[in-house]
Amino acid sequence: MNPKQVAIITGASRGIGRAISLALASEGYDIAAIARTSDSECMLSLQPEIEALGAQFFPIGLDVAHTNLHDEAISSILDRYGRIDLLINNAGIAPIERKDLLDLDEETFDRVLSVNLRGPVFLARRVAREMIWLKDQVKDYRPSIMFVTSFLAYTSFTNGVDVCISKAGLSMAALVFADRLSEEGINVYEIRPGLIKTELTSRSKYKFDRLITEGLIPQKRWGTPEDVAKAVASLARGDWAFSAGTIFEVSGGMNIQSI
Ligand code: NAP
Repeated sequence: MNPKQVAIITGASRGIGRAISLALASEGYDIAAIARTSDSECMLSLQPEIEALGAQFFPIGLDVAHTNLHDEAISSILDRYGRIDLLINNAGIAPIERKDLLDLDEETFDRVLSVNLRGPVFLARRVAREMIWLKDQVKDYRPSIMFVTSFLAYTSFTNGVDVCISKAGLSMAALVFADRLSEEGINVYEIRPGLIKTELTSRSKYKFDRLITEGLIPQKRWGTPEDVAKAVASLARGDWAFSAGTIFEVSGGMNIQSI
Protein backbone atom coordinates (compact mmCIF):
# COMPACT_ATOMS: atom_id res chain seq x y z
CA MET A 1 0.00 0.00 0.00
CA ASN A 2 1.39 3.38 -1.05
CA PRO A 3 2.07 5.49 2.07
CA LYS A 4 1.06 8.68 0.26
CA GLN A 5 -2.33 9.68 -1.09
CA VAL A 6 -2.88 9.03 -4.81
CA ALA A 7 -4.76 11.34 -7.16
CA ILE A 8 -6.03 10.51 -10.65
CA ILE A 9 -6.26 13.53 -12.95
CA THR A 10 -7.80 13.17 -16.40
CA GLY A 11 -6.63 15.61 -19.06
CA ALA A 12 -3.42 16.03 -17.08
CA SER A 13 -1.05 16.74 -19.95
CA ARG A 14 -1.75 20.45 -20.37
CA GLY A 15 -3.94 23.38 -19.37
CA ILE A 16 -6.06 23.10 -16.24
CA GLY A 17 -5.31 19.40 -15.63
CA ARG A 18 -1.56 20.00 -15.73
CA ALA A 19 -1.81 22.83 -13.18
CA ILE A 20 -4.01 20.65 -10.97
CA SER A 21 -1.48 17.80 -11.17
CA LEU A 22 1.35 20.10 -10.08
CA ALA A 23 -0.73 21.62 -7.28
CA LEU A 24 -1.68 18.17 -5.95
CA ALA A 25 1.93 16.98 -6.15
CA SER A 26 2.79 20.00 -3.96
CA GLU A 27 0.05 18.93 -1.56
CA GLY A 28 1.76 15.55 -1.12
CA TYR A 29 -0.21 13.40 -3.57
CA ASP A 30 1.37 10.91 -5.98
CA ILE A 31 -0.03 11.54 -9.45
CA ALA A 32 -1.71 9.13 -11.89
CA ALA A 33 -1.97 11.31 -14.99
CA ILE A 34 -4.42 10.42 -17.75
CA ALA A 35 -4.37 11.80 -21.31
CA ARG A 36 -5.08 10.16 -24.66
CA THR A 37 -1.42 9.25 -25.05
CA SER A 38 1.01 8.63 -22.22
CA ASP A 39 4.16 9.59 -24.12
CA SER A 40 3.25 12.90 -25.76
CA GLU A 41 5.73 15.75 -25.42
CA CYS A 42 3.45 17.35 -22.82
CA MET A 43 3.30 14.21 -20.69
CA LEU A 44 7.04 13.62 -20.98
CA SER A 45 7.77 17.18 -19.85
CA LEU A 46 5.31 16.95 -16.95
CA GLN A 47 7.09 13.97 -15.37
CA PRO A 48 10.24 15.81 -14.17
CA GLU A 49 8.14 18.73 -12.93
CA ILE A 50 6.03 16.40 -10.79
CA GLU A 51 9.04 14.45 -9.55
CA ALA A 52 10.85 17.68 -8.61
CA LEU A 53 8.00 18.22 -6.13
CA GLY A 54 8.79 14.87 -4.49
CA ALA A 55 5.82 13.02 -5.98
CA GLN A 56 5.63 9.88 -8.11
CA PHE A 57 4.30 10.23 -11.65
CA PHE A 58 2.35 7.49 -13.40
CA PRO A 59 1.34 8.40 -16.98
CA ILE A 60 -1.62 6.52 -18.46
CA GLY A 61 -2.86 6.68 -22.05
CA LEU A 62 -6.66 6.52 -22.00
CA ASP A 63 -9.37 8.13 -24.06
CA VAL A 64 -11.96 8.67 -21.32
CA ALA A 65 -14.75 8.16 -23.87
CA HIS A 66 -13.68 4.50 -24.16
CA THR A 67 -15.47 3.22 -21.08
CA ASN A 68 -14.51 -0.36 -21.97
CA LEU A 69 -10.89 0.58 -21.18
CA HIS A 70 -11.57 2.19 -17.78
CA ASP A 71 -11.17 -1.09 -15.90
CA GLU A 72 -7.68 -1.68 -17.24
CA ALA A 73 -6.56 1.86 -16.40
CA ILE A 74 -7.95 1.78 -12.86
CA SER A 75 -6.56 -1.70 -12.23
CA SER A 76 -3.09 -0.54 -13.30
CA ILE A 77 -3.24 2.28 -10.73
CA LEU A 78 -4.41 -0.07 -7.99
CA ASP A 79 -1.72 -2.62 -8.90
CA ARG A 80 0.92 0.07 -8.58
CA TYR A 81 -0.30 1.97 -5.50
CA GLY A 82 -2.99 -0.13 -3.82
CA ARG A 83 -5.14 2.97 -3.30
CA ILE A 84 -6.95 5.86 -4.98
CA ASP A 85 -7.76 8.88 -2.81
CA LEU A 86 -8.89 11.46 -5.31
CA LEU A 87 -10.36 11.51 -8.83
CA ILE A 88 -10.34 14.77 -10.79
CA ASN A 89 -12.62 14.34 -13.81
CA ASN A 90 -11.10 17.20 -15.81
CA ALA A 91 -10.61 16.01 -19.42
CA GLY A 92 -12.96 17.77 -21.80
CA ILE A 93 -13.17 18.94 -25.38
CA ALA A 94 -14.84 21.47 -27.63
CA PRO A 95 -15.64 20.51 -31.24
CA ILE A 96 -12.90 21.44 -33.72
CA GLU A 97 -15.39 23.44 -35.74
CA ARG A 98 -17.91 25.46 -33.74
CA LYS A 99 -21.20 25.22 -35.59
CA ASP A 100 -24.47 27.05 -35.11
CA LEU A 101 -27.20 25.06 -33.35
CA LEU A 102 -29.05 24.72 -36.67
CA ASP A 103 -26.00 23.04 -38.27
CA LEU A 104 -25.24 20.70 -35.39
CA ASP A 105 -24.26 17.22 -36.59
CA GLU A 106 -24.87 13.98 -34.74
CA GLU A 107 -21.32 12.63 -34.94
CA THR A 108 -19.78 15.70 -33.30
CA PHE A 109 -22.56 15.84 -30.70
CA ASP A 110 -21.99 12.18 -29.76
CA ARG A 111 -18.21 12.62 -29.49
CA VAL A 112 -18.46 15.70 -27.24
CA LEU A 113 -21.05 14.03 -25.03
CA SER A 114 -19.01 10.84 -24.75
CA VAL A 115 -15.80 12.65 -23.70
CA ASN A 116 -17.35 15.39 -21.55
CA LEU A 117 -20.21 13.49 -19.91
CA ARG A 118 -20.51 9.74 -20.49
CA GLY A 119 -16.81 9.00 -19.90
CA PRO A 120 -16.50 11.00 -16.66
CA VAL A 121 -19.74 9.53 -15.25
CA PHE A 122 -18.63 5.94 -15.75
CA LEU A 123 -15.07 6.66 -14.59
CA ALA A 124 -16.49 8.17 -11.40
CA ARG A 125 -18.74 5.15 -10.91
CA ARG A 126 -15.77 2.79 -11.34
CA VAL A 127 -13.54 4.74 -8.95
CA ALA A 128 -16.34 5.25 -6.39
CA ARG A 129 -16.80 1.47 -6.13
CA GLU A 130 -13.06 1.07 -5.40
CA MET A 131 -13.16 3.88 -2.86
CA ILE A 132 -16.03 2.22 -1.00
CA TRP A 133 -13.98 -0.99 -0.80
CA LEU A 134 -10.81 0.89 0.19
CA LYS A 135 -12.53 2.57 3.16
CA ASP A 136 -11.90 -0.50 5.30
CA GLN A 137 -8.37 -1.05 4.02
CA VAL A 138 -6.73 2.41 4.25
CA LYS A 139 -6.08 4.19 7.55
CA ASP A 140 -7.28 7.82 7.77
CA TYR A 141 -8.87 7.52 4.33
CA ARG A 142 -10.56 10.74 3.06
CA PRO A 143 -11.64 9.94 -0.52
CA SER A 144 -13.00 12.59 -2.83
CA ILE A 145 -14.19 13.05 -6.42
CA MET A 146 -14.29 16.35 -8.32
CA PHE A 147 -15.99 17.14 -11.62
CA VAL A 148 -14.63 20.02 -13.71
CA THR A 149 -17.65 21.51 -15.48
CA SER A 150 -17.85 25.01 -16.99
CA PHE A 151 -19.67 28.34 -16.98
CA LEU A 152 -21.31 26.80 -20.08
CA ALA A 153 -23.32 24.63 -17.66
CA TYR A 154 -25.52 27.72 -17.13
CA THR A 155 -24.69 29.97 -20.10
CA SER A 156 -26.26 29.55 -23.54
CA PHE A 157 -23.73 29.48 -26.39
CA THR A 158 -25.50 28.83 -29.68
CA ASN A 159 -22.22 27.82 -31.37
CA GLY A 160 -21.46 25.31 -28.63
CA VAL A 161 -24.71 23.58 -27.81
CA ASP A 162 -22.96 20.20 -27.47
CA VAL A 163 -20.54 21.55 -24.86
CA CYS A 164 -23.33 23.41 -23.02
CA ILE A 165 -25.48 20.28 -22.79
CA SER A 166 -22.54 18.08 -21.76
CA LYS A 167 -21.48 20.47 -18.99
CA ALA A 168 -25.03 21.01 -17.71
CA GLY A 169 -25.37 17.22 -17.56
CA LEU A 170 -22.02 16.86 -15.80
CA SER A 171 -23.09 19.44 -13.23
CA MET A 172 -26.15 17.31 -12.40
CA ALA A 173 -23.93 14.21 -12.31
CA ALA A 174 -21.75 15.92 -9.69
CA LEU A 175 -24.85 16.64 -7.58
CA VAL A 176 -26.20 13.10 -7.80
CA PHE A 177 -22.80 11.54 -7.07
CA ALA A 178 -22.46 13.91 -4.09
CA ASP A 179 -25.88 12.82 -2.84
CA ARG A 180 -25.22 9.08 -3.15
CA LEU A 181 -21.59 9.06 -2.05
CA SER A 182 -21.84 11.33 1.01
CA GLU A 183 -23.21 8.39 3.01
CA GLU A 184 -20.15 6.39 1.90
CA GLY A 185 -17.76 9.04 3.25
CA ILE A 186 -16.75 10.20 -0.25
CA ASN A 187 -16.98 13.97 -0.73
CA VAL A 188 -17.95 15.07 -4.25
CA TYR A 189 -17.54 18.62 -5.55
CA GLU A 190 -18.10 20.52 -8.77
CA ILE A 191 -15.40 22.92 -10.01
CA ARG A 192 -16.86 25.40 -12.47
CA PRO A 193 -14.22 27.38 -14.40
CA GLY A 194 -14.96 30.52 -16.39
CA LEU A 195 -12.71 31.66 -19.22
CA ILE A 196 -9.29 30.17 -18.55
CA LYS A 197 -6.27 30.81 -20.76
CA THR A 198 -5.37 27.40 -22.22
CA GLU A 199 -5.02 25.74 -25.61
CA LEU A 200 -8.79 25.14 -25.56
CA THR A 201 -9.58 28.87 -25.58
CA SER A 202 -6.60 29.98 -27.71
CA ARG A 203 -8.65 29.61 -30.92
CA SER A 204 -11.05 32.34 -29.79
CA LYS A 205 -8.54 34.45 -27.87
CA TYR A 206 -9.22 37.74 -29.68
CA LYS A 207 -12.96 37.40 -29.38
CA PHE A 208 -12.69 36.70 -25.65
CA ASP A 209 -10.13 39.51 -25.15
CA ARG A 210 -12.70 41.89 -26.59
CA LEU A 211 -15.56 40.48 -24.49
CA ILE A 212 -13.45 40.79 -21.34
CA THR A 213 -12.67 44.45 -22.16
CA GLU A 214 -16.41 44.98 -22.69
CA GLY A 215 -17.20 43.66 -19.20
CA LEU A 216 -18.02 39.94 -19.63
CA ILE A 217 -15.96 39.15 -16.54
CA PRO A 218 -16.48 41.41 -13.51
CA GLN A 219 -12.89 40.79 -12.35
CA LYS A 220 -11.76 41.89 -15.83
CA ARG A 221 -9.11 39.31 -16.63
CA TRP A 222 -8.59 35.84 -18.03
CA GLY A 223 -8.48 33.07 -15.46
CA THR A 224 -5.32 30.97 -15.28
CA PRO A 225 -5.05 27.20 -14.86
CA GLU A 226 -3.43 27.98 -11.50
CA ASP A 227 -6.59 29.82 -10.35
CA VAL A 228 -8.50 26.56 -10.83
CA ALA A 229 -5.71 24.42 -9.36
CA LYS A 230 -5.67 26.48 -6.14
CA ALA A 231 -9.39 25.80 -5.61
CA VAL A 232 -8.83 22.09 -6.18
CA ALA A 233 -5.85 22.05 -3.80
CA SER A 234 -7.93 23.69 -1.07
CA LEU A 235 -10.63 21.02 -1.46
CA ALA A 236 -8.02 18.25 -1.59
CA ARG A 237 -6.48 19.48 1.69
CA GLY A 238 -9.84 18.88 3.34
CA ASP A 239 -10.57 22.57 3.97
CA TRP A 240 -14.15 22.04 2.73
CA ALA A 241 -14.87 18.71 4.38
CA PHE A 242 -18.45 19.69 5.37
CA SER A 243 -19.42 21.10 1.94
CA ALA A 244 -20.23 18.00 -0.14
CA GLY A 245 -22.05 18.80 -3.37
CA THR A 246 -20.89 22.42 -3.45
CA ILE A 247 -20.17 24.19 -6.75
CA PHE A 248 -16.85 26.05 -6.69
CA GLU A 249 -17.04 28.82 -9.26
CA VAL A 250 -13.64 30.01 -10.58
CA SER A 251 -14.77 32.55 -13.15
CA GLY A 252 -13.97 36.05 -11.93
CA GLY A 253 -17.65 36.62 -11.27
CA MET A 254 -19.18 35.46 -14.58
CA ASN A 255 -21.92 33.91 -12.48
CA ILE A 256 -23.06 37.31 -11.20
CA GLN A 257 -26.21 38.56 -12.90
CA SER A 258 -26.46 42.33 -12.80
CA ILE A 259 -28.75 45.03 -14.19
P1 NAP B 1 -7.03 21.73 -22.86
O1 NAP B 1 -5.96 22.73 -22.64
O2 NAP B 1 -7.54 21.51 -24.23
O3 NAP B 1 -6.57 20.34 -22.21
C1 NAP B 1 -7.43 19.24 -22.31
C2 NAP B 1 -6.77 18.05 -21.66
O4 NAP B 1 -7.64 16.93 -21.79
C3 NAP B 1 -5.47 17.66 -22.30
O5 NAP B 1 -4.61 17.16 -21.30
C4 NAP B 1 -5.85 16.57 -23.28
O6 NAP B 1 -4.73 15.74 -23.48
C5 NAP B 1 -6.95 15.87 -22.47
N1 NAP B 1 -7.94 15.15 -23.27
C6 NAP B 1 -8.66 15.62 -24.31
N2 NAP B 1 -9.50 14.69 -24.77
C7 NAP B 1 -9.32 13.60 -23.98
C8 NAP B 1 -9.90 12.31 -23.94
N3 NAP B 1 -10.84 11.93 -24.82
N4 NAP B 1 -9.47 11.43 -23.01
C9 NAP B 1 -8.51 11.79 -22.13
N5 NAP B 1 -7.93 12.99 -22.10
C10 NAP B 1 -8.34 13.90 -23.02
O7 NAP B 1 -8.34 22.11 -21.99
P2 NAP B 1 -8.48 22.95 -20.63
O8 NAP B 1 -8.81 24.34 -21.00
O9 NAP B 1 -7.35 22.67 -19.71
O10 NAP B 1 -9.84 22.31 -20.06
C11 NAP B 1 -9.86 21.33 -19.05
C12 NAP B 1 -11.29 21.16 -18.58
O11 NAP B 1 -11.78 22.42 -18.11
C13 NAP B 1 -12.24 20.71 -19.69
O12 NAP B 1 -13.18 19.80 -19.16
C14 NAP B 1 -12.94 22.00 -20.09
O13 NAP B 1 -14.23 21.79 -20.61
C15 NAP B 1 -13.00 22.71 -18.75
N6 NAP B 1 -13.17 24.15 -18.91
C16 NAP B 1 -12.20 24.91 -19.52
C17 NAP B 1 -12.40 26.28 -19.68
C18 NAP B 1 -11.39 27.17 -20.34
O14 NAP B 1 -11.70 28.37 -20.52
N7 NAP B 1 -10.20 26.70 -20.69
C19 NAP B 1 -13.58 26.86 -19.21
C20 NAP B 1 -14.52 26.07 -18.59
C21 NAP B 1 -14.31 24.71 -18.44
P3 NAP B 1 -4.48 14.92 -24.84
O15 NAP B 1 -4.83 15.84 -25.97
O16 NAP B 1 -3.03 14.59 -24.74
O17 NAP B 1 -5.36 13.74 -24.73
